Formats: sequence, C-alpha cells, structure tokens
Amino acid sequence: MKLSSTRDRARIVSYKEAIFQGLAPDGGLYLPVSYPDLSDLFSRLEGSASFLDVATELSRRLLGDELSGDDVEKLCRTAFPFSPRIVRSENHISILELFHGPTCAFKDFGASFLATSMELFLANESRRAVILTATSGDTGSAVAQAFKGKNLIDVVILYPSGRVSPLQEKQLTAAGGNVHALEVRGSFDDCQRMVKEAFVDPDVNTILPLTSANSINIGRLLPQAFYYVYGRSQYANEQPVRICVPSGNFGNLTAGIIAWKWGLKTEGFIAATNVNDVVPEYLKSSVYTARSSVHTYSNAMDVGDPSNFERILSIFDNDWSSMRKVIEGAAVTDTETVETIGSVWERTGKLLDPHTAVGYCAAKRYLAETEDKSEILVLATAHPAKFSEVVQKSIGSSPELPDRLAAYLDKKKVATMIGNTTGELKSFLIETLK
Ligand SMILES: *Cc1c(COP(=O)(O)O)cnc(C)c1O
Repeated sequence: MKLSSTRDRARIVSYKEAIFQGLAPDGGLYLPVSYPDLSDLFSRLEGSASFLDVATELSRRLLGDELSGDDVEKLCRTAFPFSPRIVRSENHISILELFHGPTCAFKDFGASFLATSMELFLANESRRAVILTATSGDTGSAVAQAFKGKNLIDVVILYPSGRVSPLQEKQLTAAGGNVHALEVRGSFDDCQRMVKEAFVDPDVNTILPLTSANSINIGRLLPQAFYYVYGRSQYANEQPVRICVPSGNFGNLTAGIIAWKWGLKTEGFIAATNVNDVVPEYLKSSVYTARSSVHTYSNAMDVGDPSNFERILSIFDNDWSSMRKVIEGAAVTDTETVETIGSVWERTGKLLDPHTAVGYCAAKRYLAETEDKSEILVLATAHPAKFSEVVQKSIGSSPELPDRLAAYLDKKKVATMIGNTTGELKSFLIETLK
C-alpha cells in the first residue's frame, strides 16, 4: 500500500512508515495514493463471510506487499476478537452495532488494528516504540485497552485529573504493565500541550523512540473501512443501500468513502452531526467555516473544525459538487436526539446511545423528506450504557452496564500524579522508560 500526504501527493510512504509517523512531516494527513478495484471481491461476499474473513481478505489485498500471508492472518485474528453485529430496526432502517469491543465504542476497531500492526512490524525488526498520547476520556481508554500487553510498546497516557468519568478513569489506569497512566493536575489542554512539547524535545527524542496513536493515524482509519464492507455484505447485491454515519472528527465517514473508492456498492452516505454542523453547512453552501465547538449530549462529536475533512476534500479533489453527489449532510439538535432515543425505544424496544441517535434521527428525516426507497444502514458508534445520563433523560431509566464494562469498576486504579509542566513529563519519560 502506498500513501501520500494530503498536502504533498508526490512524496510516497509505505503503510508501515505512515503508521509510525502519524501526521505527515508537512502537517498533512496520509491517504492511499490509489484505490484498487475490489468490487469483484465485494460482490462475492454476500452474507456468508464473517467480519474476520472480510478483514483478513482486505488486509491481504492491501498490505500484502508489506506483510506475509501468515502475518496478515495473525494481525486480523489478534486485532479482532470482537465483531460488528447488524440488527434490523424498523422499515428501511438497520443498525450496524460497532460497540462489541473492549471499551464498547467503534474506536476499538481502529485502536486494536493499529496496535497490533505496530507490534508486528516492531517484532520483525526487533525494535520497540513508545506511544505518547493525551486524552479527555474515551480515545485514551480505547488506546489503553488496545495496546495493553503489547511487549514491544510502552504507552504513556496523560489525562486531566478529576475531569474524566469514573469508568473512563478505570479503563485508562487499570490496564497496567506496559500502559502508564499519568494523572495531570491540569486541564485537557495542558495535557495536549505537554505531549506536543515532548514530541519536539531533543532530550526525550534522542533517548526514546516516540510515536503517536491519535485518531488521525491511517492505521486507525483503514480497519474502519472493513466494517462498511462487512455491513454492506449483509444485504443482497441488487438492494440499494445508503449508509448513515454519526460524525464528529469525520474519521469514520472518511473510512466509508475509502471503501466506496474501492468499489463498495452504495447509493451514498448521510453525514449526521449534532449542532456542530460545519460539514453539513459546507455541503449546503459550498463554504467551509470552522468555528469553536459547542457542548452537546453527543459529546464525542463536539468538533468545530474536523481534522479528517482535509482528507475528504482531498479524495474529492476539492470539488464540492462531486462530494455532494455522494454525501448528504444532516444536523440534529439535542432535543431531537433525546426524542429519538425515546421514540425508538417505544417503537422497537431498542436503546440507542446519543451519538447513534443523531444518525438514526437523520436517517428517519431523510426517508420522510425524500422519495428514496433505499435501505439505510445506521452505524451505532457506542453502547447506550456509556451515556446513561442522556438515556435516563429520554426514557426515565438507565441501561444496564455490560459485564465487560462493569468489570472495570472493580479494578485497581494505578496512576502517577504529575503537575502540568513539560519538565515533569520529561522526567517521568526518561526515568521510567529509558
Ligand atoms: C469518536 C466518536 C464519534 C465520532 O467519530 P468521528 O470519526 O470522529 O467522526 C461518534 N460517536 C462516538 C461514540 C465516538 O466515540
């Protein structure tokens, strides 16, 4: 697989180089240089293939020049002990549940594939790496769970003391072993600043092989494309299917568009946002105006300037009208989100988390406002129990915590408290990991 930066399509790197770099040196984001036509494979899948089969076959086609057949198989088997599940909901709407991984959110797919592919490349070269990352909660817990037990990788996660939920804190701090949690006396912005400064610090960099694992890493996007292929394969080939994606930083939608570039058969995508709707606004007006984010019930989508939009623009060569042919935009308010959770619960007995509810509301609206008779597949990005306050507001009671989440609450928190200075972070890194 060959990749290049959105800002310099001429400088080519391999998948391995791209995942260890994260961001391209010119500040751009990595994207495939070209898209193989996989439509023959897709049309053969119809219903019978498991998610693991789909992931393995796609990884073989895409990464076969960098990983042996055995390594590809090991990669997918290790990364995906969990699968998406499709659930028929009501007339024309189905849900692709992406929350059956360790932290009950779709980010488990990307984090797990990235962690496992890094470990494989490192093992082949007898190298090690240190992942340094800051989190406000959810991304960090997916990273902690994905990298836990990887022998060649140490992970250092900074989080703001007192500002993550008790469950998130346990998921960040109870992994132990190679996952080091740093509880910072400061804000999330402090954590991000400290990480940024450590990355460019010569003392740290001469001693430690630092790398990042944040959400712009192509190693997290690529495996997300696999579940679009799997989800689509659960319908007959001739069935028109449109895919609705609850979106914040637009990584998930970018992965869907990559699958579409490989020849995935779809009528198009619905990009559903909360009131942080800069992309739906762009699709309507052709003008992109970044702004500060506002807080909503679907808080993992509170993004005012989504970083992956640069990738989407690049895939469509900055052409607004061709993007509009493939992507519909829809913005959903908190009131509509709560109403959707309540009404879907009443009609179908199915509970949605607030992010999935944004997608579901957009799908319903689309079906009501158009003549389109396509099936709509709504991606369910998190388990409703992760957002029990909003669910409580909608239906008057709280969903039960799945066992694998409840189990974290009994685990022991192990974290090192530090102040909000880069000096303290440097000392920890050098003393603990050199
Ligand atoms: C991260 C996240 C999203 C948004 O996904 P993007 O790839 O950033 O668009 C939606 N729902 C949940 C639950 C998330 O954690």
